[in-house]
Amino acid sequence: MVWRTICAGALAGLSIVRMTASARIPELIGGIEKMPLEHYVAPARPPLVGMTRPQLADMLSELEVPAAQRAMRVQQLWHWIYLRGAQTFDEMTSVSKELRGALDARYTLARPVVATEQVSVDGTRKWLLRLPGQHAGEGAHDIECVYIPEAGRGTLCVSSQVGCTLNCSFCHTGTQQLVRNLTAEEIVGQILVARDQLGDWSARTPQRSDGADGGRLITNIVMMGMGEPLYNFDAVHDALLIVADGDGIGISKRKITLSTSGVVPNIVRAGAEIGVMLAVSLHAVRDDLRDRLVPLNRKYPISELLAACRGYPGLSNARRITFEYVMLKGVNDSLADAKALVRLLKGIPAKINLIPFNPWPGSAYECSDWEQIEKFSEIIFNAGYASPVRTPRGRDILAACGQLKSATEKLSARERLALRAMAMTD
Ligand code: SAH
Ligand code: SF4
Repeated sequence: MVWRTICAGALAGLSIVRMTASARIPELIGGIEKMPLEHYVAPARPPLVGMTRPQLADMLSELEVPAAQRAMRVQQLWHWIYLRGAQTFDEMTSVSKELRGALDARYTLARPVVATEQVSVDGTRKWLLRLPGQHAGEGAHDIECVYIPEAGRGTLCVSSQVGCTLNCSFCHTGTQQLVRNLTAEEIVGQILVARDQLGDWSARTPQRSDGADGGRLITNIVMMGMGEPLYNFDAVHDALLIVADGDGIGISKRKITLSTSGVVPNIVRAGAEIGVMLAVSLHAVRDDLRDRLVPLNRKYPISELLAACRGYPGLSNARRITFEYVMLKGVNDSLADAKALVRLLKGIPAKINLIPFNPWPGSAYECSDWEQIEKFSEIIFNAGYASPVRTPRGRDILAACGQLKSATEKLSARERLALRAMAMTD
């Protein structure tokens, strides 16, 4: 994976020659979507991590655990795996020795392997996780997962796919050809790994001194790493419901945000069947432009996308949709665009998150000038949307979660600020 540079032009105040939108927008290469690799082959001893409660009950039934005991055994396993973070069956002292042995013979409690860990002075941590290939001849895949601590909360940015089937023209993940859906186990596994690395398990070593969320370090999850979560619906569904389950990891649905580029048929489903907070990558106010920035728009245009947003179950002023808008110099950042954005979102309980573009080698865009971002955000602010760019310092740059960098470099101070700006949950 290539490391991308941050929005250094804006930060350093370099003057970048403004180009017209038509000159700067690349033609779409390779159509709207690529095909994912979909051949899941379970390992010889599959992990229990990522199994839903009914799946655990079925597994126990195969081990001939009597029906009358199954609900209790499921609860015990849930407690050990998701509340205590058990990594071996031996630790499960409330489970009979015989059952522990039977489980150990057929299953594991494995998580994705941490290939590298980087820790910054302010506590931001980034893990490169290695996932096995899942069919013959397929090599290992790496995904990244980042923990962003802040006063009173800690946000974990997780991935839903290796690569992405979509080809957004400003997004580096979209240029990756190889795409594989993560399993529920691999999605939940990212959170378990983060808790392992942080010592963030109940009854182990609670860390937070400010008492936030019962002492837990990870209080919020954003599904904004690699991939389009609504194109991996079932695994994301199972994983997020496991994460939100109050008897285990217990991060409430209000503190989990799923970001989508606009897979319309699955938006209402996500609201009804998962019920987490929604973020929508809008990025343009006109179809002709959005067709080029987010090619999925050709399938699901803005009007259909916003209709799905209006129908998002549970939407209210207390439960708003976040609209993400990447600031691309000379492309979508005019003040007329800002006014159109306000008009477009009228009547939808919304927050707007302006994301300074994070350039990468070969990208055809530049980040908007900082003054322009300020003027743009002022129009939005005057329309009644509070702080569209999260923190004053984080305004300078942003390394969006989907745009994380490779394993070998250290996070710079600027990148840390950017990551904080991205921790956009309330
Ligand atoms: N696929 C999902 C979630 C992952 S991307 C989606 O598109 O919403 C997370 C966010 O990062 C999205 O809003 C995406 O548009 C944004 N993003 C992608 N590339 C970016 C870049 N180079 N600079 C800034 N934001 C970017
Ligand atoms: Fe995929 Fe999101 Fe990147 Fe678009 S912005 S290519 S949907 S990860």
